[in-house]
Amino acid sequence: MRITGIKTFLMQAQFPPEEAYATAHRVDAAKGQSGRSGTRNWLFLKIYTDAGITGVGECSGWPRVVERAVQDLTPLLVGEDPTHIERLWQKCFSAMMAHGMTGVVGAGALSGIDMALWDIKGKALGTPVWNLLGGKVRDRIRIYGHASTPEVAVSLRDRGITAIKTGGVADIVAKVEAIRRAVGDEVDLMVDLHGPPWMTAKDAIVVGKRLEAYDLLFYEDPVAPENIEALERIQEHVEIPIAAGERFATIWGMRALIERELVDVIQPDTGRAGGLTQMRKIAAMAEAHHITVAPHSGSLGPVAEYAALHLLAAIPNALILERLEDDWAGRYEVITPVPKTVEGHIAVPDTPGLGIDIVEEADARYPSTGNLSVAGGPSTGAYAPGTFEEQVYFQTRFGRRSTFSGKRTDG
Ligand SMILES: [Mg+2]
Repeated sequence: MRITGIKTFLMQAQFPPEEAYATAHRVDAAKGQSGRSGTRNWLFLKIYTDAGITGVGECSGWPRVVERAVQDLTPLLVGEDPTHIERLWQKCFSAMMAHGMTGVVGAGALSGIDMALWDIKGKALGTPVWNLLGGKVRDRIRIYGHASTPEVAVSLRDRGITAIKTGGVADIVAKVEAIRRAVGDEVDLMVDLHGPPWMTAKDAIVVGKRLEAYDLLFYEDPVAPENIEALERIQEHVEIPIAAGERFATIWGMRALIERELVDVIQPDTGRAGGLTQMRKIAAMAEAHHITVAPHSGSLGPVAEYAALHLLAAIPNALILERLEDDWAGRYEVITPVPKTVEGHIAVPDTPGLGIDIVEEADARYPSTGNLSVAGGPSTGAYAPGTFEEQVYFQTRFGRRSTFSGKRTDG
């Protein structure tokens, strides 16, 4: 069997209308406080073979840029035997040497390619990818949802979701308290500060100490993940498991977090960590340090989410999978079959390969129009002096009294 070509499918994955988002997240769209807009892209790819078998994959990182990287790598793969996954991974990785090897653009391209190669191999052998990764440790994967208000959290709980994450900085302690009170003690809660570059170790410790009372499953990206020394201080001072890793790629990107035990939960992004080939190695490195794995899916589409099910089925230290179920109805148009959540879990697929395909006509209905939150209207998330967006950048440095007492109302 030989690879004959690769085709990419870039699409604009939309968010809900501003009003719906604002209602769910207690922000004022009129003031431009959502910071979310139609800037999310999903990039799927298909690898074709002369045996008639195709494999699907998904790349994140920076999808419009990654698409070009996939096109650049394609000549290296055409004519190759797709079953020699590790060799092809190393061939592509070496070819990127002059472009910097550990960044998320190159690793994003490799993620989709690698995912599709595992899919082809599974289909060729008539077995699911989890079987190629060592077999099943579990039959279903626990997922978590997102909520910024007690109302949304209660609706998730009532649908059987048993773990809920909330995020932000300014009013986070009050938000967690309200959600905990609403959902009770049986639901696991997590907090994501989204690793802003301005967050200091001191502030993250102040927030973390106040969050200890709510018995969180983890405290995610309390500072920028590159701020290794700050993470070390937070790990020493805050008695909540620390999670990070979504913005890094490959075993080398994750190495410091794992080897120095700066995290209790590692969060590789299935679309940009370097593919299942890297994810399983990252999981093994983590296992050696008693660190669990909770793949990031925040900006991902459903193909990578699906691939993560196979990894989490096969590794002992799988903690939980992030899942955006309600972000956009289009999520369910672009793939088949659609995974179903039952009792807060998704069943591990039993069909050969990844067990999922993209619906090409659906992808084509949403052409990419942009991929960055840059200048534009107030809701683009632009950094503009004198606006809410600028204020966000300094939110814990100004107005500390109201920020940490939970009385701040503008964030
Ligand atoms: Mg995050």
